[in-house]
Amino acid sequence: MSWQATILTLFPEMFPGPLGLSLAGRALQAGTWTCQAEDLRRFGLGRHRAVDDTPFGGGAGMVIRPDVVDAAFSATQAGVDVPRVYLSPRGRPLTQQDVRRYAAGPGIMLLCGRFEGVDERVLQARGVEQVSIGDYILSGGEVAALVLLDACVRLLPGVMGCEESGVEESFSDGLLEYPHYTRPAVWDGHAVPDILLSGNHAAIAAWRHRQAEETTRERRPDLWSAWLARKEANKAVAVGGTAQADH
Ligand code: SAH
Repeated sequence: MSWQATILTLFPEMFPGPLGLSLAGRALQAGTWTCQAEDLRRFGLGRHRAVDDTPFGGGAGMVIRPDVVDAAFSATQAGVDVPRVYLSPRGRPLTQQDVRRYAAGPGIMLLCGRFEGVDERVLQARGVEQVSIGDYILSGGEVAALVLLDACVRLLPGVMGCEESGVEESFSDGLLEYPHYTRPAVWDGHAVPDILLSGNHAAIAAWRHRQAEETTRERRPDLWSAWLARKEANKAVAVGGTAQADH
């Protein structure tokens, strides 16, 4: 069974876009996943197929109507039950954990906003998760949807050539990844760290781990605190386990 991506958007031409190339593109051709972009305009009202209206309470911009979104949801029921996700700067931040959860399921339905966004009622009433790809404002949800899909598709079975590269990278264990180096060994007067040429795999692994910790501590205090807390918790469990074994 293919992993099914359904996208509700005012710009269906944007899909698969860049995901039609490279790893994701090959996987699309191979049928590992499907990409169905539905034009929200098709569910618009009246002669002009209006999808939006002015905000209650006043203020700038337009809001996408709940009845239009609901009609689109009903008409594009995938054969299987998939999570519905609205890309929104008001959502919870997308994490690799979410991506793994989505990729492990049968697929996803993505709603891309435009203008000021989507009427809140249809999101609440139809069990739509709200997900943000970062603390900045895009002009529409399409690029965010492509980001989310890219992250999911590369995790589908058989998409990544080397399965291991999915396990070792940033976030999979809560730390940023260590730095990478390749040939030439000396470039523009800069040598790669000696340890990497030592052939001592245990020492290299330890060095990489220290680098990962150092980088995370410097760049991502949020991830670093979480990592430290988890380490403490694991230690407590290990100590508790030993104490029990002593009985
Ligand atoms: N007025 C809104 C922003 C609307 S931007 C607010 O301040 O919250 C228009 C559309 O772009 C949104 O409906 C959403 O679908 C998309 N979008 C913008 N920024 C995004 C982000 N950081 N993550 C995910 N989607 C985003």
